[in-house]
Amino acid sequence: MTQTALYPLRFDPIYQYRLWGGRRLATLLSQPLPGDGPIGEAWLLSDRTDHQSLVTNGPLKGQSIGQVMERFQEQLMGKLSSRFSRFPLLLKFLDAHEMLSVQVHPSDAHPELIPAGDTAKTEAWVVIEAERGSHIYAGLRPGTNAGILRQSIDDGTIADHMVCIAPKPGNAVFIPAGTVHTLGDDVVVFEVQQDSDVTFRLYDWGHVDPKTGKPRPLQVDQAFTCIEFGASDSGLVAARVETTTPVERERLFDCQAFVLWRLLGQDPFIVGATAEPRVLVCLEGSGQVSHKGTPYAVDKGDVWLLPAEAGECAFQPSGEVTLLEIAIP
Ligand SMILES: [Zn+2]
Repeated sequence: MTQTALYPLRFDPIYQYRLWGGRRLATLLSQPLPGDGPIGEAWLLSDRTDHQSLVTNGPLKGQSIGQVMERFQEQLMGKLSSRFSRFPLLLKFLDAHEMLSVQVHPSDAHPELIPAGDTAKTEAWVVIEAERGSHIYAGLRPGTNAGILRQSIDDGTIADHMVCIAPKPGNAVFIPAGTVHTLGDDVVVFEVQQDSDVTFRLYDWGHVDPKTGKPRPLQVDQAFTCIEFGASDSGLVAARVETTTPVERERLFDCQAFVLWRLLGQDPFIVGATAEPRVLVCLEGSGQVSHKGTPYAVDKGDVWLLPAEAGECAFQPSGEVTLLEIAIP
């Protein structure tokens, strides 16, 4: 048995080249981006086998989230430890300079479309930056059936059949599995999703990948199998204010896979919870989270995993701070 005690863990982002990406994540993450090509995604916390987040602080520095999960299952996951052998959420920042492909992810109703070891994928976005011409599409417009959608892919009018949102910073958008969705034209979002990589592309706006000189493959038939026609729980969600002092705590998402709150304040407040892990993402400002008397500096763009055994921790903002706190229900 190990003697090492767990403590709040900070992780380094994993950058991903995407043809639709940009260079805006440098500001958000307060650090230079690698290379000079388009970076579409920074994976903030990932227990994917091919992309393991690494701890950047303390005695466990350099260990992967997968190794920490294996060594400290109980201490890290608390009451959830028997349910998950891998960390079940994937957290990202997306910089969508161009439009992403129009896509859909399968729900648990389609196990035949989910490879072994993967899961369904419900996701949600918190808009961080948007321009006047930015777009988010979330779901199909009423009356759009499979025939209309298929025709619109052929004639390039699919945008006319999706629910269009002109995003503004602070918007919260929910994309349950089975929802046709995309975003782009200079929008930056935080994304929380189930730890899954199963995406079916319906349409790609005529994009050609400069790396290959070819359009990216589509998976239209699989996509049609998992689209939930007639579903209406996707799109903009209203924040539910739970407390206003000492911090404004708003619940943005509450689904089977994740719960997410936005915290705004400048006075000390509590983060974390007894016997369950919590993730903090700092969107604006900075501060310190304290655990067993030790302060850990939380800066803009940071992601911190508070292990279950840390329980409730005090957060001391340095001025006004905006945090996201994420729980696994
Ligand atoms: Zn997606």
